Amino acid sequence: MKRKALIAGNWKMHMTVLEGCRLAAEIVASCKDYTDREVLLAPPCTIISEVSHILAGSKIILSSHNVCWEEKGAFTGEISPTMLQDAGASCAIVGHSERRQVFFESDEVINKRLKGALAFGLMGILCIGETLEEREAGNTQAVLERQVRKGLADVPASQMKQVVLAYEPVWAIGTGVTASKEQVQETHAALRQLISEIYEKDIAEGLRILYGGSVKATNVDELMSQQDIDGALVGGAALDSISFARIINFE
Ligand code: PGA
Repeated sequence: MKRKALIAGNWKMHMTVLEGCRLAAEIVASCKDYTDREVLLAPPCTIISEVSHILAGSKIILSSHNVCWEEKGAFTGEISPTMLQDAGASCAIVGHSERRQVFFESDEVINKRLKGALAFGLMGILCIGETLEEREAGNTQAVLERQVRKGLADVPASQMKQVVLAYEPVWAIGTGVTASKEQVQETHAALRQLISEIYEKDIAEGLRILYGGSVKATNVDELMSQQDIDGALVGGAALDSISFARIINFE
């Protein structure tokens, strides 16, 4: 099965309205009419609505960085799936390592967020990844398996079409150190195997598994040449339209 590639730009806590709209417009201008890949932008929620106007008429997918599982109510500091849809987004990232590490989000909370996103019809990008400590202790596989199993707990097979998995080793995020293409390929193949054990082979074969962690214009081609690497979740290099355009247009 040929999976459509997905190149996602995570703007993290960057961009004012003006800056974000300018960057989005530059990215729209550098996109071609692709049939083999999709492009996604994840601006901070304060500018999702404005960016959605810039993306109107393009095929670029708009995503948030997080989402609550409830539609409305007493959840100070949270944003619901329907609010995101109202602002123009159709996707939510959940479980980013910065949410896990800096804001202490547990696998259980991340699972609730993912299920909330899916229940309201959003696409959900579930991020997983081991820390350097966990890797050095030889625990990478166990950590990833736990994050996948708990993150996807009670997600029915029927909703797996809305799910994208993003493998982001924490030691490679924002550090300039990229995991080697062999390392990533091996990990993604193991993740696909795990998904086929939890669900079934067809679902595993259809699931897009992105890599994130210092993806840049100079390493995207070799990463994307690997069979089980279906796209990239890009942080730093997504903040510059020239470098992100080069990544989108990987060969
Ligand atoms: P980076 O971030 O590309 O700056 O390493 C990736 C991410 O955190 O999604």
